[in-house]
Amino acid sequence: MIKTAVVTDRRYLKHFAGRVHPERPERVEVMIEMAESLGRPDLDFCTPREATVEEISLCHTREYIATVERTSHVDRYDFDADTHTSRDSYRSAILAAGGVLTAVEAVLDGGVQNAFALVRPPGHHALPNRAMGFCFFNNVAIAAAWLLRKGLERVMVVDWDLHHGNGTQDIFYGSRNVLYVSTHQYPHYPGTGSLYDMGVGEGIGYTVNAPMPAGFGDPDYLRVFDELILPIGRAFKPEFILVSAGFDCHFRDPLGAMEVTEAGFEQMARRVKLLAAETCAGRVVAALEGGYDLEALANSGKAVLEEFGREADEPLAHPPGGARVMPIVERALQSVGRYWDLS
Ligand SMILES: [Zn+2]
Repeated sequence: MIKTAVVTDRRYLKHFAGRVHPERPERVEVMIEMAESLGRPDLDFCTPREATVEEISLCHTREYIATVERTSHVDRYDFDADTHTSRDSYRSAILAAGGVLTAVEAVLDGGVQNAFALVRPPGHHALPNRAMGFCFFNNVAIAAAWLLRKGLERVMVVDWDLHHGNGTQDIFYGSRNVLYVSTHQYPHYPGTGSLYDMGVGEGIGYTVNAPMPAGFGDPDYLRVFDELILPIGRAFKPEFILVSAGFDCHFRDPLGAMEVTEAGFEQMARRVKLLAAETCAGRVVAALEGGYDLEALANSGKAVLEEFGREADEPLAHPPGGARVMPIVERALQSVGRYWDLS
């Protein structure tokens, strides 16, 4: 039986970003209720630990960490127009970063095959010295950097959130040890993630972006996985895969205009799992990023958890449709693809 760790905690509900803010405590609450209601013996519920300042400083400056810590002393601090704290936000944020580390540790220990960290606040927009886009500390980037410090040399981050993970891209832009791949609505917040953001210096080729216009859905996303992400992932041969699992590209989401369904998330998770099975003994950790429609969030999270627990994969059927995304895939293959041996 495949065992999956679910790392979550009601302490994530304590971060409060504002009365009408879309990134609200109920997001994790519905995920916890969903996971608990499944009653699956293969789910191993784990309590997250807090990340240490030293671990967070793998990706953020000490000065910035101290700035976020100081927000614990005021009822509200505005980092920008949509990124606000409450007194409990710092603790929730270090627990979110630590939750992804707890998930990674559970998978490395071998007690579970894969894990899903149901955390908030999210992380993938957070820059080394700046909070933005509802994010304070870059949970997934910290986990990737932590794995490198453990001695791993190739970590892959798959970011299927609606938005481009500018923070994660930025942190590893010059690194060949982290392959960052992102599907996202484009142009859209935060504005980064063009086809020609490909990395710099020895990191060139290790940032792979698939920007897609509004209205694209399952067949388009799955084509991008089959024709771009999986071939480059196979060439990279990751030793561990992290997923920035945002569900705001769901068709019901109020912040996005993409058309992904629960079946689409399940199929993306299957592809990531297949790549992990081929390259790194199935080691995958997904971490919650965005997703602002509560029903879509719970149903999509459930689809990913079900896929993570599935024993055998059927061969991947090529999804019907998606021809409209092929010009984007082809341009990506011509630009970033030339850094890879995809034969
Ligand atoms: Zn998002």
